[in-house]
Amino acid sequence: MSIECERMGGINLSQGVVDTEVPIVVRQAAQRAIDEGVNTYTHHEGLVQLRKAIAEKHKRFTGVEFDPEGEIVVSSGATGALYCTCLALLEPGDEVIVFEPFYGYHVTTLIATEAVPKHVRLDPPGWEIVRENVEKAITPKTRAIILNTPSNPSGKVFSRNEIEMIGDLAEKHDLFIFTDEIYEHFIYGSKSHISPASIPGLSDRTITISGVSKTFSITGWRIGYCLCNKKWAEAIGYFNDLVYVCAPAPLQVGVAKGLINLGDDYYSKIEEEYHIKRDKICNALDAAGLTPCVPQGAYYVLADISGIHGKNSKERVMNLLNKTGVACVPGEAFYHDDAGETLARFCFAKEDKVLDEACRRLEQLMKK
Ligand code: PLP
Repeated sequence: MSIECERMGGINLSQGVVDTEVPIVVRQAAQRAIDEGVNTYTHHEGLVQLRKAIAEKHKRFTGVEFDPEGEIVVSSGATGALYCTCLALLEPGDEVIVFEPFYGYHVTTLIATEAVPKHVRLDPPGWEIVRENVEKAITPKTRAIILNTPSNPSGKVFSRNEIEMIGDLAEKHDLFIFTDEIYEHFIYGSKSHISPASIPGLSDRTITISGVSKTFSITGWRIGYCLCNKKWAEAIGYFNDLVYVCAPAPLQVGVAKGLINLGDDYYSKIEEEYHIKRDKICNALDAAGLTPCVPQGAYYVLADISGIHGKNSKERVMNLLNKTGVACVPGEAFYHDDAGETLARFCFAKEDKVLDEACRRLEQLMKK
């Protein structure tokens, strides 16, 4: 969709690429680090100053403590963290529960590492986890459950009850919980982010994955991390080293500086700004007759595109692009079967002037 959108000179609300500003403290620290010679390999688990900064910031927001010496691995983005986690902790043929609609990389990472995704459907508008459905998907081969909270693409923020229920199943069947919390600071409304490792008893079996691509608008820097018990971190760190040695050294310095220096107000401002953006895009989609499923978190919205002509979601989003010049992702990208054919995902992590123009164009749809 990005290629098609560029060809047409449209507005790209398909890819999850943030175009909001990178905090100056982060940029300047990385630039200084390059000039000061931080340009060689780092420890494969990451620079100790960054690991300490991650531990401190994680404790501040989730209450969970991790030891920077052995329980944190800095990776090439959250993507690298999940990849190394799967290489380290799964055997070929192991089954992993994935809730759908899913984030495509979760499923393809499992397939690439020879694990087997087992899909459990969540339904709008609440996207609640139904215990029996998860239980039905668990077999003797199941080894892990992937949770993504807040979730891409649904925007679901899983409740404490849901996470406790997943934790209960994980304990009963001795499963890992791989939790992707990259959108932990993008929450709108009354719900709060619950990190599964903060639930009593779950920390040892949980691999918490997060990163700063989204919070610092640095998707291209490739800095993410995972936090977990030492015995798992050692194995994950081994694969981190094997696959790409380390995350980019001077950029690790920039991120450490940001994590240390940016106070709570930085993170609450993200929530405020993105809340406004969320409301704008949802109102525009409503006005366009593309009913949105209003997200509680992350920066995507799934909308009903059944009113647009086309035999599947790909044709529908192409027709929408042709009519409005706004690109989005066809719903089929988030399901293993045809359940996404009447859905599309719109990303609202855009500068206000770009988002405003996209909304204006969408609102014209009813008149065309
Ligand atoms: N996890 C989820 C759920 C995402 O939506 C994305 C990006 O879209 C990522 C991970 C990628 O994170 P990173 O840039 O840290 O690899």
